[in-house]
Amino acid sequence: MAEAYYSKASTIFTSKPPPVFTFLLLLVLCILGFYTLHYPHPAPSLSNPEAALRYRQIFLSSATNGTLASYLRALTQHPHIAGTKASLDTVNYVLSKFMDLDLETRTANYTALLSYPVYSSLSAHFSNGTVVDIPLAELAESANVVRPYHAYSPSGSAHAKVVFVNHGTDKDYRALGKLGVNVSGCVVIARRGGLPRGVMVRKAETQGASAVLLYTEGDMFKKGFERGTVMSGVGDPLSPGWAGVDGGERLHSEDSEVLKRFPRIPSMPLSAEAAEFILGSLGGAQSPPGWPTGVGVGPGPTMLNFTYQGEKRVENIHNVFAVIRGLEEPDRYVLLGNHRDAWTYGAVDPNSGTAALLDIARRYALLMHLGWRPRRTIFLCSWDAEEFGMIGSTEWVEQNLVNLGSKAVAYLNVDCAVQGPGFFVGATPQLDNLLLEVTKKVKDPDSEGATVYEKWAASNAGTSIQRLSGVDSDFAPFVQHAGVPSVDIYYGRDFPVYHTAFDSYSWMTNYGDPLFQRHVAVAGIWGLLALHLADDSIIPFNYVSYANQLQAYKGVLSKLDGSVSLYPLTRSIQELDSAAKEAEDEAKILRQQETTGDSVVLKKRALNDRLMLAERGFLDADGLQGRQWFKHLIYGPPSDYESKLVFFPGVADAISRSSRMSRKERQAAIEHEIWRAARAIERAAKALRGDLS
Ligand SMILES: [Zn+2]
Repeated sequence: MAEAYYSKASTIFTSKPPPVFTFLLLLVLCILGFYTLHYPHPAPSLSNPEAALRYRQIFLSSATNGTLASYLRALTQHPHIAGTKASLDTVNYVLSKFMDLDLETRTANYTALLSYPVYSSLSAHFSNGTVVDIPLAELAESANVVRPYHAYSPSGSAHAKVVFVNHGTDKDYRALGKLGVNVSGCVVIARRGGLPRGVMVRKAETQGASAVLLYTEGDMFKKGFERGTVMSGVGDPLSPGWAGVDGGERLHSEDSEVLKRFPRIPSMPLSAEAAEFILGSLGGAQSPPGWPTGVGVGPGPTMLNFTYQGEKRVENIHNVFAVIRGLEEPDRYVLLGNHRDAWTYGAVDPNSGTAALLDIARRYALLMHLGWRPRRTIFLCSWDAEEFGMIGSTEWVEQNLVNLGSKAVAYLNVDCAVQGPGFFVGATPQLDNLLLEVTKKVKDPDSEGATVYEKWAASNAGTSIQRLSGVDSDFAPFVQHAGVPSVDIYYGRDFPVYHTAFDSYSWMTNYGDPLFQRHVAVAGIWGLLALHLADDSIIPFNYVSYANQLQAYKGVLSKLDGSVSLYPLTRSIQELDSAAKEAEDEAKILRQQETTGDSVVLKKRALNDRLMLAERGFLDADGLQGRQWFKHLIYGPPSDYESKLVFFPGVADAISRSSRMSRKERQAAIEHEIWRAARAIERAAKALRGDLS
């Protein structure tokens, strides 16, 4: 369909008309131009649901996998780690694509403390006296790729016996303790899975290890090294809580506030191949149950000689935006965001998402040529320095906090858009219904005649929607700091070349998405979500889902600790549920009313404001104890990553903190956090009702 549209358009403009016709054409254009400028436009029929439906259909039918492939190819020509010349080239590429489409563009620049490797070496000294240098790169693929490293690792050396610590969790260290194994002074090797990278390093540090090597298991790409950050928290470490603008306040890089975000022992990634080679030589006790079988855990006899030298530098980072002004409510924002910086070539992470973002821009521009203007303003956001710790998006959210808090309807994130087969999504719960509806409209990329929804519903997990408590992509500042309803979508998960030099265009065309149909599906879902959020006269949020989700969380809590009273939650969830049902009824009535008279316009706007602001109710000005930047009391990371709770982070913290307290103190600490969560839910309910008490 789309190709037919384009070939038709191009024949009109490529055939050369005779001069007389050209003159007449110009005359007509001048007259039309005069009328356009001087007479009121007929309001583009946004309030007309049929026109909006037609635009959505054109959006879906104008997908072309060839275009998506060409964007991805261009973006992945070179590795483009943040703060480098190659990264700046991708800034200009994205900007020029937006400009070619005649879209309004802008950039937001910040300075941030980034971290790069200078030197690294590793050799294994075996008990038979042989010494083997371990290669620390992916060789052929990695000519221009940054050498494997952990951003923000301190420089350091270690020459010590090796201990294998499985996933490096507290449980794993306890298992080692039972075997009489102490990792103090040793070089620890751990396999990824479960804990964030930085948390693994810190746990090893707490155990007294002198250095950490992390590897990622895989059958196909055993030579890959998983680069990544080990910084805790999000955003530029020199401007915590405020935007790192040029000339603005900046902490000293040796300030204790800055240093506390980095581990104190050095670490590096290791390939699975190298890890297996070293682990195969370990003696000591055999690995406990649940660990890889037939491996000794050490310490030694193999010794490792490890050196890592890195440097931290203040660099410029650049966010790029395209803006499509809303016609009726220009001061309401729907944001689509994806990061652009990559550890290596970034074909999956993140530029499959960037290709989708650019294709959405192309298709929105097409709709604009056909007369469409969104009701609300759409921002297409291309973030920088996500890989170092969501820096570009966090600085921007911090800089725009008040405007986002009062005017942002939703943030739709896509990071590793296409990793393989299968649809996955995370969202704040008021967006659940919209996700189900939108996936019913998009063709499944892997089965003829089915929709994404049908295949998703038939999958093992059904249409399960994850929640956004993690801090692994750019939705974190929007949800956890600003309280903006958010979505995170992707195809496939756990792709084997994550953060390695093999995350290239050729991996995508060989394994990830050879025909780019999954890219088409992601762009379709993403763009369609935004069209509904930007154009529907009533914002398509449903807080009944939120109340139901909170009710389920209460059920989990009641099983965790019977002695704690959940009464405050019971009452506040009931309040949210009834406010949500009232809002639904009101929306039903207003949806049927033509938006003509001023009073209907104002009533819709008033309901929309309440729907938009209800999520902000979950924020707490004081934030989580000891981690005040995290303001959301329903979704956020627990400080103890082995917590069973992936919601109510304050309650999760209280539970893990209270293990050393008396029974009475423990109950009080947990109940206080339950009261805080309940008050947050009550605030959301009040915001949804809109009236003062
Ligand atoms: Zn990413």
